[in-house]
Amino acid sequence: MVCVALIDRDGVLNRDRPDYIKNEDELEVFSFARAALETFKDAGWLVYVVSNQSVVGRGLASVAAVEATTAKLVRAVGPVDGVFYCYHRPEDECGCRKPEPGLLLQGLAAAAAAGALEERWMVGDSARDVEAGRRAGCRTAVVLTGHLTAEEARRLEPPPDVVADDVLEAAKLITAPRGASY
Ligand SMILES: [Mg+2]
Ligand SMILES: [Zn+2]
Repeated sequence: MVCVALIDRDGVLNRDRPDYIKNEDELEVFSFARAALETFKDAGWLVYVVSNQSVVGRGLASVAAVEATTAKLVRAVGPVDGVFYCYHRPEDECGCRKPEPGLLLQGLAAAAAAGALEERWMVGDSARDVEAGRRAGCRTAVVLTGHLTAEEARRLEPPPDVVADDVLEAAKLITAPRGASY
């Protein structure tokens, strides 16, 4: 049986920027991100990054720049099982830009190649992460290091399964033995 965590990037693993992360120099990885991913790994979970990166479709960054940013992220947090990006703009109306579920379904398909899925979670910092997670059949966690305050996170309708201060707390809650209270 396979447990999989789909994790948004900006605002979760690294600080988000209103003007997009356009190159690796603009990537500021959170100090607790590595421990969070190690928490999932130590519990035997697969971890995929699923992130809207319309910065490419908008012509603000090249694919090569995003790939260099990914390489810097992985150096900071350790290897992940996969990274799935949507490069489209909202007006492209693709099926992968969150809140569409396509990006998450790619991650789940990759995970399912390793075995039947037991637990599937989406961890994000915005309403569209929660919506995409729900549409992909995942339980959802919101972290408070990005777009939402605790109040806003709890008021989402329907609410996320978990609201955590940051991705490390989320990882600990999600991987806790069953019976633990969320
Ligand atoms: Mg985000
Ligand atoms: Zn897309």
